[in-house]
Amino acid sequence: MKILLHTCCGPCTLYPIKTLRKDGIKALVYFYNPNIHPFREYERRVEALETAAERFAFPVLWDESGYGLRTWMKEIGTRQDPDERCPVCYSLRLRTSAKKAAELGLPAYSTTLLYSPYQRHELIREIGEKFASMYGIKFYYQDFREGWIEGIEMSKEIGIYRQPYCGCVYSEEERYSKRAKRLQDRLLAKSVDSI
Ligand code: SF4
Repeated sequence: MKILLHTCCGPCTLYPIKTLRKDGIKALVYFYNPNIHPFREYERRVEALETAAERFAFPVLWDESGYGLRTWMKEIGTRQDPDERCPVCYSLRLRTSAKKAAELGLPAYSTTLLYSPYQRHELIREIGEKFASMYGIKFYYQDFREGWIEGIEMSKEIGIYRQPYCGCVYSEEERYSKRAKRLQDRLLAKSVDSI
């Protein structure tokens, strides 16, 4: 059996590829992530996946759209809260992946988003199944989170970049919110001192 495996990044692809191979499933890895910002970050993640693909010998189909900041912004609109924006972000990526799998004549698709304990697992499954049904294919579900630690070890072995935030500018802001607050407090204290 061959499936399209949507990938969010290099580190999250390693364990799913390993376990799918063990189960006799061939995966065509598909990179479509307009949610990764800014460009330099996108570039680093692309390079990490390139290295992972070379080292673990798996094929990657790079979506023709490339860096997709504007596509993502258009889709997300004014939704800033993660409870509102993440479902739309998952839907954009999974809808495009399901469509691609159907166009390629593949019977099923899946996503490495199912590997991360930081993602909304059940929601991803629900959205994945919805678009599979819409395009007349199957959503290959597996709880790849079981291999979280093993996947981290694999990524460290090959020395690829491991990103500190999910992808969008909002998630970057959330990741560094405490640091931003500390910085602001320090600057405000300096301002007061200088008066
Ligand atoms: S936090 Fe992650 S899943 Fe949520 S909108 Fe941002 S990039 Fe998408």
